[in-house]
Amino acid sequence: MKVKTRFAPSPTGFLHIGGARTALFSWLYARKCGGQFVLRIEDTDRERSTEESVQAILDGMSWLKLDHDEGPYYQTQRFDRYKELVQNLLDEGKAYKCYCSKERLEKLREEQVENKSAFRGYDGHCRDLDHEQEGDYVIRFRNPQEDDVVFDDAVQGTVTYSNSQLDDLIIARADGTPTYNFTVVVDDMDMGITHVIRGDDHLNNTPRQINMYQALGAETPVFAHVPMIMDEGGKKLSKRTGAASVMFYRDEGYLPEAVLNYLVRLGWSHGDQEVFTMDEMQSLFEIKDINKSASSLNISKLDWLNQEYMKEMDSEYVGEQLKWHFDQAGIDTTKGPALSQIVKSHCDRAKTLKEMAAVSAFFFQDFEEYDEKAAKKALRGVALEPLQEVKVACEAINDWTAENLHQMVEDVCATLEVGMGKVGQPLRVAVAGSGASPSIDITLEMLGKDKTIARVERAIEFVKQRMESQE
Ligand code: GLU
Repeated sequence: MKVKTRFAPSPTGFLHIGGARTALFSWLYARKCGGQFVLRIEDTDRERSTEESVQAILDGMSWLKLDHDEGPYYQTQRFDRYKELVQNLLDEGKAYKCYCSKERLEKLREEQVENKSAFRGYDGHCRDLDHEQEGDYVIRFRNPQEDDVVFDDAVQGTVTYSNSQLDDLIIARADGTPTYNFTVVVDDMDMGITHVIRGDDHLNNTPRQINMYQALGAETPVFAHVPMIMDEGGKKLSKRTGAASVMFYRDEGYLPEAVLNYLVRLGWSHGDQEVFTMDEMQSLFEIKDINKSASSLNISKLDWLNQEYMKEMDSEYVGEQLKWHFDQAGIDTTKGPALSQIVKSHCDRAKTLKEMAAVSAFFFQDFEEYDEKAAKKALRGVALEPLQEVKVACEAINDWTAENLHQMVEDVCATLEVGMGKVGQPLRVAVAGSGASPSIDITLEMLGKDKTIARVERAIEFVKQRMESQE
């Protein structure tokens, strides 16, 4: 059997982190089995579906590099097919027209609540009408009334629903548009989907869908219902939380590879291994190893993973991702050190690319002000002479290498008979604007001679002014 999986989001908001995880599981399983992965946009709810949301899904998928082999299909482009099959079901008596008014249905619902009735849903009022009527109608699927629907969910185990609890679902609305539970079955059938991996919020829909597969004479796929992702406090992840959206992670400076690794571990495990290459993820992933219980977001774990990835991945590649963050901040990186160098020298110092861009911005643009605390401590009167010495020494260096710069700082310390800190720290604040930067020789080498000298001059002026104002 050729494995075919799919991701079938409804475009009614951003790409949700839980959606991205089921997409990843589906994608991994297809890749593992040498099968195919389909992207399908379930946009039949025209009131709630938007163009921006479709774009957000496509952008999110491509940022995560979850490529599809087929699609994206759009359900709104398949209306003729749904109509055809609704008609077939009507002709075969497997579906029927229901003329019940909204008021009647509302009343029915109220009565069921009032009577604490075990059965909730449509009562089959129009099930056996033997003639057509005037007026609006919806089309309902004639759900079997006897027996149970039993299926082996690849995550949840054996699941049993009694047909007596399932009402006759609307498959086409009064305006003729088909509904989710019907279109999803038609599409998965037509597209030859073998494994449906999706959120467990759809578990309740599954027995109805299985009945429809049978009515359509199709084989049912394997179902795997994945538990939800909770927030850090273990509560349902609100759609309003930034962390619910995949793009939040891009914007906050996480590498897509780290996010995928993080997502795969949210609800799936292979022993106690935490870090997986893409190849490992693909070869080791098994649906049966998906956890049955819900998992919670853990941003500090993602921070850790992200830093691991920034350290381990090709620095040229990480540098390209870093550039995006500089671009967002409006910082031109064309003049200055190579971004791969920034990555190498800063991956120990930052957990995210956004943080890395912020702490290394001084390489590309002058900072406006010194960090107040750092300047107060390091740019005092005693720093004047070391800075002046450094400036002269820098001017004399022709071969601007970390090695020579290291020597230069040592020489200045020797001349002034002071320790490293008396020279290194004022110099660091002078060039970086703050007390944090990689080692001073590397920092100066990357910054370049002209910028270094200009910033040392600026710091000298700063110290002088400060001394004058204190007189
Ligand atoms: N379109 C549905 C949703 O976004 C998913 C349907 C499915 O995976 O079967 O919730």
